[in-house]
Amino acid sequence: MDLLLTHGTVVTMNREREVLADADVFIQDGRIAKIGRGLKVRGAARRVLDVKGQVVMPGLIHGHLHTCQTLFRNHADGLELLDWLRERIWPYEAAHDADSMRASADLTFAELIQSGATAALDMGTVRHYDAVFESARDSGFRLTGGKAMMDTGHSLPAGLRETTEASLAQSLALLERWHGSEGGRLRYAFAPRFVLSCTERLLKEVSRLALEKGVRVHTHASENPTECDLVRQRIGMDNVAYFHSLGLSGPHVTLAHCVWLTAEEQRLLRETGTVMCHCPSSNLKLASGIAKVPELMDAGVHVCLGADGAPCNNNLDLFVEMRLAALLHKPRVGPLATVEGARALGLEKEVGSLEEGKRADVTVVDVRGLHALPTPANVLGVLVYSARSTDVSHVVIDGQLVLKDRQLLTLDALQVAEDARRHAARIVERADL
Ligand SMILES: [Zn+2]
Repeated sequence: MDLLLTHGTVVTMNREREVLADADVFIQDGRIAKIGRGLKVRGAARRVLDVKGQVVMPGLIHGHLHTCQTLFRNHADGLELLDWLRERIWPYEAAHDADSMRASADLTFAELIQSGATAALDMGTVRHYDAVFESARDSGFRLTGGKAMMDTGHSLPAGLRETTEASLAQSLALLERWHGSEGGRLRYAFAPRFVLSCTERLLKEVSRLALEKGVRVHTHASENPTECDLVRQRIGMDNVAYFHSLGLSGPHVTLAHCVWLTAEEQRLLRETGTVMCHCPSSNLKLASGIAKVPELMDAGVHVCLGADGAPCNNNLDLFVEMRLAALLHKPRVGPLATVEGARALGLEKEVGSLEEGKRADVTVVDVRGLHALPTPANVLGVLVYSARSTDVSHVVIDGQLVLKDRQLLTLDALQVAEDARRHAARIVERADL
């Protein structure tokens, strides 16, 4: 259905970063058809939402996420990365079945939509990724994702072990089933977990297949000093340099974290156009360190924002990540969660800004709460520093209204909560900790 948002403060995030006061946004056939003041739109079957006093902005985009981990929230605190993985996250991931995976994905997309996010780049666990795509299909969320690939590594539970052949075959089967479906809203991305979980043969095949199939590669790099030491011992190279030597660099590659980079690796990111995803809450909670974001941005590296998994955050809220990134680094972080987020998904021509012709992924934020007053004409600072995700009032994805007056329209919030509790309890019971 067509949708007209009227009288909003429109934060376009276009090249000029225009902010339009008292403007309308007309959405038709899934795209932004027109932006302007006092739009006269013809046609009958139209829905109008008056958003006077509210901000209309591009939907927020997570550049790094694990839908499969949302059910483990609050069950893995006080640990550093490698212990966090071995003692909690991998055993929990191995305890998933298709139903618990669906519950975890439903909970994730419900939380993301309520907090103003419209798209994400996701890494699953080794199995059951169909359930994540099914949840995204039904909830209307814009998902680029793939199953985790893990064909080597110590302390892996049986449920996560896979051969190189099986890992590649299952990834390709998922790609064939889902990539480009729902009018392009769902897309596949190869997700080798990190260097320590992957054989060189697997990474080389991913490098070749990603180019052949025209899909993205999404992985982790240089998150934690111990991880970096182990990689150096085993491979004789640093993470980003090693990935680059295998062809895993370029605008189609998104690397989460990149906290510990050599000058050479920074240069590689810049020269190849590889996207780096900054996850400040996760990096602080797992005591990983603080990525050199201003330095990377000054050097021209593409940096986006992500929440990472719920058990290392412990929420999936890009308003929190924007504020934290701005407080830690003082860069202009607005584009990180929108324009650069779109780049992390390879969708910069389609989403990430409010411009005529782009897909209609739109978030409306009610900035009239006491905690956000007073509001100047340029509301970018309000969005980054004062606004909360609970201020999100409406969300549109691909032209579909999925949140109206804070009510989820494509997911049943009570059912999602009940399923999440039930399946989380079962996973804790089943997991071999
Ligand atoms: Zn991660």
